Amino acid sequence: MKKDCVFCNKKMLEDEYMFPIKEMENGLLFFDKDQRYQGKLIFIYKHSHIVGLEDIPSPYDESFIKELKKVNLALKSSFDDIELLNTLTMGNYIEHCHFHIIPRRKSDKLFGRNPLNGLEDIAHVHLSTKQFEDMKDKILKFL
Ligand SMILES: [Zn+2]
Repeated sequence: MKKDCVFCNKKMLEDEYMFPIKEMENGLLFFDKDQRYQGKLIFIYKHSHIVGLEDIPSPYDESFIKELKKVNLALKSSFDDIELLNTLTMGNYIEHCHFHIIPRRKSDKLFGRNPLNGLEDIAHVHLSTKQFEDMKDKILKFL
């Protein structure tokens, strides 16, 4: 693990950025505190500090991708109105392998377009701890 990496440091993550859902076998699952897309998840590779998907060593690569799929299915199952999921890995700001799982709904202002282009025009959504807990209870039923 890397000392100054925010995704290697669970405490920093929980305090500053994200709401924890579950520690899985290969990844850490959180709700992004930015909930402009309701239910948006972050799934972080947990075994070591690596940058990209291509850096995941065997045999964790297969099991991590299977878990990522499971997380995607769980998110889709826990809401009735999700049309599709955008699952992205970028690493432009935080260089630790992670995925953004963004639920897309027909009611999205940016539906049918890149979920990040134009995001600055969408007002921030601040959820209470209770609202995060309720979403967590829903998704945990499928994990
Ligand atoms: Zn890291």
